[in-house]
Amino acid sequence: MKICFLGTCSGTEPYQNRKHSAFCLECEGYIYWFDAGEGCSYTGHIAGVDLLAVKNIVISHTHMDHVGGLGNLLWNIRKLRYVKKEKPYYGDIEVYIPNMETWNGIMKILRNTEGEFCTDYSVIGHRIMDGILFDDGILKVTAYHNTHLQKQDLTSWLSFSFLIEYEGKRLVYSGDVGNYHDLDEVIGGGCNCLIIETGHFCIDDVYDYCKDKQIEKIYFFHNGREILNNLPAAQKRVYDLFGEKAIICEDGMIVQTS
Ligand SMILES: [Zn+2]
Repeated sequence: MKICFLGTCSGTEPYQNRKHSAFCLECEGYIYWFDAGEGCSYTGHIAGVDLLAVKNIVISHTHMDHVGGLGNLLWNIRKLRYVKKEKPYYGDIEVYIPNMETWNGIMKILRNTEGEFCTDYSVIGHRIMDGILFDDGILKVTAYHNTHLQKQDLTSWLSFSFLIEYEGKRLVYSGDVGNYHDLDEVIGGGCNCLIIETGHFCIDDVYDYCKDKQIEKIYFFHNGREILNNLPAAQKRVYDLFGEKAIICEDGMIVQTS
């Protein structure tokens, strides 16, 4: 599996060489997209991510730094698939998102673009709830609500973390969290890989939370100004605490995990 980090910044104002949060996983020829901050499809396409192979898109919550590029991602996929007909398409696109009001708004915007966003495939929105989002025989993704956002009503949480299982490996994506203990259940006995938001925390918080856990590799993601404003010092602190086990992600960074 390949992880492509497309945007690694938290919800700051525009920051040089950093866009808002997004990454994708390439597994057996398919692309699984997680969060869609501004410009993520531009960065992915330029970096060689095959937008025609996008199968599922998962949005952790609908703040702008996670959803600002979703409309453009879907628009770019249509441009390549339906307008330019670059390749046969792989099938429908399933979008998993916690807030259907936002989803309906994005689709409304798209339907008012050229060609009324007509496609020969379906783009299907699903509201995220706790439990398995999908298990397609390649990837299994399970959602765990967290406390970054409060419940919309008695039944619907608005922000989630994810366990992503592939070939017996466990990858956890934090999304944005209220506090790191939101991740206790999703990490459980440990994981091979943790993509953890740092935008609301400091480097030592990550260390304190992770130090006694069985985690093979930690990716600092959704980084805020505290890390980005003095990156060499932050990189040194991460290395001093974690050694080779953790890394601060950069936009466009690609990692082969298995
Ligand atoms: Zn955020």
